[in-house]
Amino acid sequence: MLGLMQDWPLLLHRIIDHAAIHHGTRPVITRSVEGPIVETNYAQIRARALKVAQRLERDGVTLGDRVATLAWNTWRHLECWYGILGVGAIYHTVNPRLFPDQIAWIINHAEDKVMMLDITFVPLMEKLADRLPSIERYIVLTDAAHMPQTTLKNAVSYEEWLAQADGDFAWKQFDENTAAGMCYTSGTTGEPKGVVYSHRSNTLHAFMAALPDSKNLRATDVCLPVVPFFHANGWSLAFSTPMVGAALVLPGARMDGASIYELLDKYKVSFTAAVPTVWLMLLQDLEKTGAKLPYLKRVVIGGSACPRAMTKAFEDNYGVEVIHAWGMTEMSPLGSLCTMKPEYAQLTGEARLDIQQKQGHPPFGVEMKITDDDGKALPWDGKTFGRLKVRGPAVAKAYFKNKDNILDKEGFFDTGDVATIDQYGYMQVTDRAKDVIKSGGEWISSIDLENLAVGHPKVAEAAVIGVTHPKWDERPLLIIVLKKGETATKDDILGFMQGKIARWWLPDDVVFVEDIPHTATGKIQKTTLRKQFRDYRLPT
Ligand code: ADP
Repeated sequence: MLGLMQDWPLLLHRIIDHAAIHHGTRPVITRSVEGPIVETNYAQIRARALKVAQRLERDGVTLGDRVATLAWNTWRHLECWYGILGVGAIYHTVNPRLFPDQIAWIINHAEDKVMMLDITFVPLMEKLADRLPSIERYIVLTDAAHMPQTTLKNAVSYEEWLAQADGDFAWKQFDENTAAGMCYTSGTTGEPKGVVYSHRSNTLHAFMAALPDSKNLRATDVCLPVVPFFHANGWSLAFSTPMVGAALVLPGARMDGASIYELLDKYKVSFTAAVPTVWLMLLQDLEKTGAKLPYLKRVVIGGSACPRAMTKAFEDNYGVEVIHAWGMTEMSPLGSLCTMKPEYAQLTGEARLDIQQKQGHPPFGVEMKITDDDGKALPWDGKTFGRLKVRGPAVAKAYFKNKDNILDKEGFFDTGDVATIDQYGYMQVTDRAKDVIKSGGEWISSIDLENLAVGHPKVAEAAVIGVTHPKWDERPLLIIVLKKGETATKDDILGFMQGKIARWWLPDDVVFVEDIPHTATGKIQKTTLRKQFRDYRLPT
């Protein structure tokens, strides 16, 4: 027997319909790429997204076509997403921080038909355009006055292009399993892989993301997604925020500490999210200026492990709750968030920080297990670590144009992370499987060592890699960037770490550098560091 409920496919443009009807005047404020602050609202976003869909259809874009966006977080980018979705096409976010060759590879692999891009990226695309036969038209996200002279094929300014539509358009209707969005993993090993989200998976994921023990978003919030829409599906914020009707503040191209602080303060932002490197810049800026964060209530920190010192600084110095989160492009991307279950809710001080080091527990819709290399499930005791595997309606089952089976017999996807899970279901990432340091048959977590080292008051950033050792196979090397104007010695740093970790985990050496390389999504680039220190010999 089937249920007798209505057939109401979970289509993403229904989210902007809801936002426009019930939260239509809620502000959407952007620091535009051209410079000035631009204010609009959900009703206008929807009205213009309808024009985007109508205009795309006139340009021949239909169900299943890929439309690339190479853009910062702005109101125009948001309109484009909903317009693309509403015509049944697929938004394909391209990360501008990738190498130009990778960008070309990804666009060709996705066979994007149209590209919507910020003025900032016109010179980049002019260099690549000859190699991108599938792109028929470039729409530059600006108005006629700011439109640059360009050789890009059929280039037009977005505002002029949009003005040719009246918005008299009805969203297309189709199956909820239809592809909605695409995002390529950064491909630090091998070629990038295309992850394809569906309307259904993104809608369910937006519900999961908004839940009280996830981001706890509500209509009274003012949400600042510092994390770019092109990083791992924008952590769902382009969907979960309008879904609940919270106001949006979008940072455009400027994500330095001072610019972010200005938005947080001026627009009374209550919720924000980004990777640790962004928060490092903000906290350093606040330390310098002495400014406070009276309006900010919650900050989601993920993408790489959130250092204990960062959690402590936000909570103790600024009264902001830190929600440590873990996920990946293949998971839409949310996998777990570290909010407090009753078992841990009473903890304070260092004991609370111990729990916040963990990446947390999954919302409904994500199942987890840890296994050994043979696939045997391991116990949830908070100590045993194994390969972290996940399953759920917003987890990838395959990559675009790739026949490889990526699921185990039970349908779980191997995340490539090594983790523990404790008795209450809190997961903690020990390391990426390829970054873990194998010393004498035992594993050392590079993440734990990095988190500890950045707790030293003079350290700005720390990275740990394994270097070859004649007896132990590998030993940890600690690479440090000091805060501006500070000096420290190897013994200062190791002395600080001593007693806080097992003795045999202590790095064999410390080197001081000016800069640590980062990936296109702001993570420490271990592959480059390993190359850089390939000929390095540990002191004997
Ligand atoms: P990219 O590397 O391109 O940013 P993803 O965002 O998909 O791609 O990266 C996912 C990976 O990032 C995870 O598998 C994990 O290794 C790491 N990661 C994400 N969040 C955390 C976190 N809170 N702590 C530690 N590692 C994290």
